[in-house]
Amino acid sequence: MQIIKHTGRLKLVLSRYRKQGATIGFIPTMGALHPGHLSLIKQSVITDDITVSSIYVNPTQFDDKSDLKNYPRNFKSDYALLKSEECTIVFSPDNKEMYPRPDNRRFNFGRMGDVMEGKMRPGHFNGVAQIVTKLFDAVQPHRAYFGKKDFQQLAIIQKLVNDYDIEIVACPIIREKDGLAMSSRNSLLSDQERNDAPAIYRTLLLVKEKFRNRNVKEAEKFVEARINKYTSLKLEYFQIVNSITLDPVDEIASTIPLTACIAVYAGSVRLIDNIDIFS
Ligand code: AMP
Repeated sequence: MQIIKHTGRLKLVLSRYRKQGATIGFIPTMGALHPGHLSLIKQSVITDDITVSSIYVNPTQFDDKSDLKNYPRNFKSDYALLKSEECTIVFSPDNKEMYPRPDNRRFNFGRMGDVMEGKMRPGHFNGVAQIVTKLFDAVQPHRAYFGKKDFQQLAIIQKLVNDYDIEIVACPIIREKDGLAMSSRNSLLSDQERNDAPAIYRTLLLVKEKFRNRNVKEAEKFVEARINKYTSLKLEYFQIVNSITLDPVDEIASTIPLTACIAVYAGSVRLIDNIDIFS
């Protein structure tokens, strides 16, 4: 496995592979890798000739400075994990490399960018689009792999990628045995918060089971009461949206694909999850 820190070098190495006719799979990450990330790497290793993963904690997508400061960083063990998965190249640039000058680009995702994460974390998806376009330009992959864990991010990237000739591969959410969606932020949870956090997925499962053909308002009330009864948990939002357009709906009717999305604070750690209502 090659570790590359500079975009110029990355482009040069990849152009050699491309000339040989190799296909390139790309997995952007912010590191602190766990089996959720590794499932994306595995998928690319199976599908593509070359697998490139990036590790970069992108400051422009953090609306909360303390979240950026506390974000777990674990380069050594990340490199070891990527090597054991047979990743070909890891790209781990620093801030100067990715932002030699301020990036003033403003992206417009339409209504899709205004709900849920877009509403709660102003500027977040603009930062995501800034870094993902820079990385796509550097790597020029044939395929890029993203987790459904970040459901809204995936939808926004699918929209963004209309300008690129890149196939976006959506990968399933990998969970702990107790159902908690794996996340780098889980390592920041206290014992109490970690004990309570599986209630997030359990609640989504109950919504899926009990609220078909009912009003979303009823589901919202149920979710709020259920999450907030845990002392360490606080619901930030629960929303049921059209899985394609991300428009919020009022009725849980099976005429269109729907996804229930949730954001919860476990202490000061913000966790997100989602579930497909009809699959
Ligand atoms: P991050 O490092 O959090 O930016 O995530 C990098 C990629 O891994 C994103 O495409 C995430 O959606 C994906 N990912 C993170 N956690 C999981 C998970 N539990 N299951 C599947 N994919 C995940």
